[in-house]
Amino acid sequence: MALEQTFVMIKPDGVQRGLIGDIVSRLERRGLRLVAAKLMQVSRQLAEKHYEEHRDKPFFGELVSFITSGPVFAMVWEGQGAIAVVRQMMGKTNPQEAAPGTIRGDLALSIGMNVVHGSDSPESAAREIALWFGGETPLKYERSMDRWI
Ligand code: UDP
Repeated sequence: MALEQTFVMIKPDGVQRGLIGDIVSRLERRGLRLVAAKLMQVSRQLAEKHYEEHRDKPFFGELVSFITSGPVFAMVWEGQGAIAVVRQMMGKTNPQEAAPGTIRGDLALSIGMNVVHGSDSPESAAREIALWFGGETPLKYERSMDRWI
């Protein structure tokens, strides 16, 4: 499995509920490596672009309002098979169907406020990292523990 980078965002509900530490800790403990991060207020333009594949869905307006309603914590994580691993750790989109042990299965109840976003494919990851971290280059570094993971 190739070394991959994936875009992960803790949504406004996760930030408001004080879940940044828990979610970051889960990803770190799994062995993934944080290579970029920022706490930011999302503009309407960025939210609409990020979710453009859902533009015609009935929930699009509410989704954009929600994502722009408060700060989000945007990150890039790196690791072997990171894209699928993060998706698996997030659990199903609807937290009521998400397995216990997953982020949504442990920490959320409603589909509208499901605390976390993670890229769903290599194409999405490349697009989202460029969109959210445009000019910034994720750091390249090794941790002493990486050879044990
Ligand atoms: N969403 C929603 N209502 C729905 C479906 C999705 O509010 O019926 C929101 C939900 O917060 C989800 C986001 O839209 O996380 C993007 O949907 P997607 O299908 O891409 O799910 P994800 O990749 O986040 O699991």
